[in-house]
Amino acid sequence: MQMRTQLVVAGEFPGYHRWPEAPAPFQYLRLYHSHMFTFRAYIAVVDDREFEFLELADRCSRKLQDYLTFHGDSSCESLAQELCRFLQSWQLRVASGEVLEDGKCGAIVYVE
Ligand SMILES: [Zn+2]
Repeated sequence: MQMRTQLVVAGEFPGYHRWPEAPAPFQYLRLYHSHMFTFRAYIAVVDDREFEFLELADRCSRKLQDYLTFHGDSSCESLAQELCRFLQSWQLRVASGEVLEDGKCGAIVYVE
């Protein structure tokens, strides 16, 4: 039996963002509003305990919160892409990354 293993790195962070070009029915989104953003990433591994995922989750949370502070027009799509880029910068084999607003709707990015 062949098996593949992925570790899960997840967390949350509060933040503000806006959608400056939101269409008229959703113009309230043009103003800054807050969410509790949640994220989850799946990372391929070969061996047990290749990295410490709790520490990595904290780093991801701080990274995404900092990113949103300086990129307040960010969407869940761009935050999920940033999550994947951050994990790749640590030489990790990220398979996917997702960011949700208030644990409900958001985006998932698959890394080819
Ligand atoms: Zn929003």
